[in-house]
Amino acid sequence: MKKMESSRDSFFEQQRQEMVRSQIIARGVKNPLVLQAMQTVPRHEFVPEDRQETAYSDRPLPIGYGQTISQPYIVAYMTELLRLGGGEKVLEIGTGFGYQTAILASIAREVYTVEYVSELAETAERLFQKLGYDNIHCRTGDGSLGWEAAAPYEGILVTASGPKVPDALKHQLKSGARLVMPVGEYRFGQRIVRVTRGSGDTFHPEKFLDVAFVPLLGQFGWEKRDES
Ligand code: SAH
Repeated sequence: MKKMESSRDSFFEQQRQEMVRSQIIARGVKNPLVLQAMQTVPRHEFVPEDRQETAYSDRPLPIGYGQTISQPYIVAYMTELLRLGGGEKVLEIGTGFGYQTAILASIAREVYTVEYVSELAETAERLFQKLGYDNIHCRTGDGSLGWEAAAPYEGILVTASGPKVPDALKHQLKSGARLVMPVGEYRFGQRIVRVTRGSGDTFHPEKFLDVAFVPLLGQFGWEKRDES
């Protein structure tokens, strides 16, 4: 049994190193903290069990409730845009199964993460406990409002797309800190946007990659829609 487990672990380990080499370094991600996190966090633990074999493939994966976990490259790319140096307090909106959260938690000092769907939040929290992440704080609720009680943050990452960057989130940024989020149309046609807070209420926006993310719901996202 033990032996089988270790050969399974080394199978995933090998796939993970290959993922970082061919999907992430090859596409230009350079930040050593990001690369190290991608090399070590066991992505196969953060997907539904019947998806483990494809956890390291170059695409997003369905996690139920109409949600997906992002493609590995997009996780690395967005994390790099935050320009964390290690030691920060960071907010993530859209925990999902918690893969992106775990990447942030390997770099930052504390990660606060908010998930709308309570079943997903509970699954993620169980995984964080099982894998020994003790610097992640989880909440179920509307992340378009942020997590005011623990603000300000030295980085905010939103992993669902909205019509615009919610003001509530911008105001929970520390001066000099960055927020990264997909912004644009409801389902397809968004761009990753980075907003850097200057002094006071000045914000500097920049645009990056074209992406397709699941919608940010809640008060400052898209209203909940019936897609049938
Ligand atoms: N972070 C995940 C991506 C999850 S997909 C990863 O590692 O890839 C986006 C997630 O955002 C979904 O789980 C969805 O339920 C959640 N979400 C959507 N609107 C939200 C809101 N207003 N507040 C918190 N979570 C939200």
